Amino acid sequence: MPRILFVTSEAHPLVKTGGLGDVAGSLPVALQSRGADVRLLLPAYRDAVTRANKLKNVASLTIAGLEAPVKILEGRLPGTSLIIWLADFPPAYDRPGNPYLDSRGQPWPDNAMRFALLAHVATALALGRSRIKWRPDVVHGHDWQTGLVPVLLAREKTRPATIFTIHNLAYQGLFPHRTFTALALPPGLWSPEALEFHDQLSFMKGGLVFADQLTTVSPTYAREIQTPEFGDGLDGLLRRRAARLSGILNGIDDAEWDPARDRYLVNHYSAGRLQGKAANKLALQREFGLPLEPDAPLIGMVGRLVAQKGIDLVLDTLPGLMHRPLQLVLLGSGEAAYETALVRQAARYKDRLSVRIGYDEGLAHRIEAGADMFLMPSRFEPCGLNQLYSLRYGTVPIVRRAGGLADTVVDATPENIGAGKATGIVFQEANGGALLAAMDRALALWRDAGCWQKIMRTGMRQDFSWRHRATKYMQMYERLRRPAS
Ligand code: ADP
Repeated sequence: MPRILFVTSEAHPLVKTGGLGDVAGSLPVALQSRGADVRLLLPAYRDAVTRANKLKNVASLTIAGLEAPVKILEGRLPGTSLIIWLADFPPAYDRPGNPYLDSRGQPWPDNAMRFALLAHVATALALGRSRIKWRPDVVHGHDWQTGLVPVLLAREKTRPATIFTIHNLAYQGLFPHRTFTALALPPGLWSPEALEFHDQLSFMKGGLVFADQLTTVSPTYAREIQTPEFGDGLDGLLRRRAARLSGILNGIDDAEWDPARDRYLVNHYSAGRLQGKAANKLALQREFGLPLEPDAPLIGMVGRLVAQKGIDLVLDTLPGLMHRPLQLVLLGSGEAAYETALVRQAARYKDRLSVRIGYDEGLAHRIEAGADMFLMPSRFEPCGLNQLYSLRYGTVPIVRRAGGLADTVVDATPENIGAGKATGIVFQEANGGALLAAMDRALALWRDAGCWQKIMRTGMRQDFSWRHRATKYMQMYERLRRPAS
């Protein structure tokens, strides 16, 4: 069975800012249950160290240029038997809050150093340059924070295979040339064929150029990023590497996200006991301070407040949305301008719109359970997890036809409803008119209770667990497996 070193900048429940955290906290566990021998490596952020109990120091690595060694703290991912390794170097990682941003929402000024260090640590472990005897067959990195892992390993004659997974191409880890110099990377890597991207150092490009295999998190996104519209300037490179690029849809942790036993819910329910959902709706209306109206369709939104997620479309269409007989609850944090605008609008439409700015895992679960519909008007969406949670919770997703949303939600056309396949509302154009038209379609279907329940139940029956998807990764690992020494 393959030995996999899984390298990531976040993993639930130790640290999570978005979908990557969910995936890195659940895929390795699914791989392990299929027999893979997995180690999960991430930085020893202060919060992660607090949440991972019983850590023990199992190795010290000497990394060139550092005045002190990097300790490897070993433990288990909470609630699982998966071995985690936390790279402990306090000047880089022992700080409060978000792993990428400071308290003002600005990137930590030393991010390049912090994630280059993670790559050095991964490389040292992968090559057996420590007391730890375990060596991986494959090193699997995720997003720009691990982009230098394949770069450093590619320089070695004898090395494990590398996989680099793109969870979001829009975040590339770009830094000025002086950072390239400061990181003491081999000068030959400053080239458009390597790490240079329009006069900047690109961590993402490192992964894309040097990994043996590239994956992304949905088949549609794998195609989209090879086009100028979604390729963020890297589409040419991705087209050149197309034979090595594939899209594997993300799975969900269906024990953590299960309306029949979700620890954050007031009342459990399932496809067979749908009436239990109503109590969650009332509780959610109460929690958001909205009138307790069982018959008003309640729309939920959860996510990062950035242009990618189409928040501006929601703001632009708010007068139209608020004109319709619905309530809207939103949980998110992100760009200050969106946060301010949403709070202001919530004050204006007090009885219909309620907004929570912040990050709240439990509330995200309660929105999935309590809302009737879930809105995701994303401009692009590599995979998207919230629509998968929505389907499982019988909360009908209204989504744009993009990336993973297009791959996971089946539009409620009359034919699809008739065939028992429809699971949500899918719209094409990224504009307010299309969003409102989609909402009107949803509201019309909602008024037909029998039809609506059929759509809910079809969604709840879908299997979005890791069961099949983890097998695809396993097959890829087997293909890439090389002797580790
Ligand atoms: P992305 O990775 O682009 O942020 P995804 O839909 O793939 O989007 O995953 C987002 C994950 O982060 C989901 O688990 C979602 O519930 C969670 N999430 C996002 N924003 C918040 C928030 N403000 N509070 C709680 N959970 C959040």
